[in-house]
This record gives sequence, C-alpha cells and structure tokens, in this order.
Amino acid sequence: MIKSKTELEIALERVKGFESPKISLEQYRLPAPVAAEVLWYIQMKFNDICENTIVDLGCGTGMLGIGCALLGAEYVIGVDVDEGAIREARRTSIEFGVSEKMDFILGDVKNVNLKGDVVVQNPPFGVRRRGADRDFIIAGLRIAPRVYSIHKGGERVRRFIFNFVERAGGRVEEVVPLKIKLPHSYHFHKKKFHVFEASLYRIVRE
Ligand code: SAH
Repeated sequence: MIKSKTELEIALERVKGFESPKISLEQYRLPAPVAAEVLWYIQMKFNDICENTIVDLGCGTGMLGIGCALLGAEYVIGVDVDEGAIREARRTSIEFGVSEKMDFILGDVKNVNLKGDVVVQNPPFGVRRRGADRDFIIAGLRIAPRVYSIHKGGERVRRFIFNFVERAGGRVEEVVPLKIKLPHSYHFHKKKFHVFEASLYRIVRE
C-alpha cells in the first residue's frame, strides 16, 4: 500500500503516455505529480477513494484509475473510447499488481450504464469537439453521487461549469487550482513544454 503522496507520484511516473495521441479525443496523460496531488487531496480531505467503487471516465492509459487502485479503492472501472489506451491501461494495471480489482470498458461515456460511489475524470476540455466536457459531467452525475472532474482554468469556464452542473442536477462544492505542465506532444506545439491552468471540481448530486 502507498503511504505518501511522493510515493504515489513516483509510482505513477511509470504509467505510460499515449503512443500517438489522437487530437480529436484531446488525449494527454495527466502528469504524475498532478495526478498524485489530486488523488491525495480526494483521499485525505474526503476519504473518497479508499474502500470505494471508483469509475474513471476517459481513463486513457490509466493514470487516475490506477492511482485509485494503489490508494486502496475497493474496485475501479476505467472507461475509454480508445481501444489502444484501454489495452495499455490494462497492461499497466497488471504490472502494478492491481488488475484483480480493475475492469475496463471500451465505449463512449455517453452510453455507459454503471453505478459507482465516486467518479474521477480528466475529460477533454471540449476544445476540439464542443460539448465533450458536458457529456462527461452528465455521465459522471448519472454514475455516482460524487464526481471529481478536471477542467480548464479561468473565470469563464468556471462560471460555465457552475451553471452547467446545476442544470445537470448537481452542485459544485470545491474548486482546486492546478498547474499542468505537458511535454511537447502535438506537432503544433512549438515550445518544449506547454503549461496551462486547470481546476479540479468536486461535484455532488443534489
Ligand atoms: N484520464 C487520462 C486521460 C485523459 S485524456 C489521464 O488523465 O491521463 C482524455 C481521455 O478521454 C482520452 O483517453 C480519450 O480517449 C477519452 N475520451 C474522449 N472522449 C471520450 C468519450 N466520449 N468517451 C470515452 N472516452 C473519451
């Protein structure tokens, strides 16, 4: 079992990124330090990982879901539309010795019909496909009474999320600022690193 945030971060560095990220799906691997910070916060402040059933929507190569499994989640389901990502996430769950409490579903979050205690998600920001982030919020609230969701930073997005969540039958309880530093991954990124502000939202069903 993982005993500190640093230990979690070091473990999660071993989760691989996307081999050839698909721009249309806004694929990027959350950096391990950010994932560790987010998951540690969720566990320490709300006790929402350990012994819970977690659904990781848009799990990609497994960063958040595998982190939850390492932190003592009872059961974790990863969902993604990308077959290659699911394959990689499953492989990594075996490598980490947590595959017995993880399952993966290949499919669109719009269609999955699951029930869990908690949803964690780092969805597309809806830059490439408008509304992609909304589908995740709606799916999250349908699946679990508590949803942790990462979105772009900034006041405009914040206002949008608050309103949208309310209309979807939820309430934003907390917003935690995050700084995400990504290595160059897409050809149109000119700089070596791309740094941007994001926020973690804690959303509860009303
Ligand atoms: N959660 C991972 C990956 C984030 S990238 C991490 O934090 O490292 C966003 C992920 O959402 C990608 O893996 C992409 O394939 C997936 N995705 C995008 N649209 C989706 C949809 N409609 N249904 C399921 N997964 C989707």
